[in-house]
Amino acid sequence: MTERTFSIIKPDATRRNLTGKINAVIEDAGLRIVAQRRVKLTTDQAKKFYEVHAERPFYGELVEQMTAEPVVVQVLEGENAVAKYREVMGATNPEQAAEGTIRKSFALSIGENSVHGSDSLDNAKIEIAQFFTDDQIVG
Ligand code: ADP
Ligand code: MG
Repeated sequence: MTERTFSIIKPDATRRNLTGKINAVIEDAGLRIVAQRRVKLTTDQAKKFYEVHAERPFYGELVEQMTAEPVVVQVLEGENAVAKYREVMGATNPEQAAEGTIRKSFALSIGENSVHGSDSLDNAKIEIAQFFTDDQIVG
């Protein structure tokens, strides 16, 4: 089934000029970038986006990292895009990420792990709506 998922190229990656290299991995995997914008997240935006992790010990650090530098927010489209992008990203902890994944190639640590991708189709819809209107997504 053709799906859309939400992606963020995180500050650790934009800071190191890795946007193009990460987009190449995404496109080589057969996912189409159907919307993309560079934006500096506000603290409120980052807190809301990662609300489910509010009680975790790393929440404060995560919000700080996500607002430190601009990010690139994206909508990716393709066959089974949600699961496909999770596979392309690799495990949260780069030490456990498979060879060839974005996190294995580029992540600095479990926190600064270069990319976000939605974990379900429902969350993809919620996350996309936080950053894009329907007319900004051109499939
Ligand atoms: P994923 O991004 O793979 O879906 P999670 O949803 O579990 O992972 O966590 C969200 C983000 O929080 C991670 O991508 C990472 O940036 C950060 N994070 C997760 N676990 C840790 C941890 N143990 N220490 C520091 N940061 C973490
Ligand atoms: Mg997650």
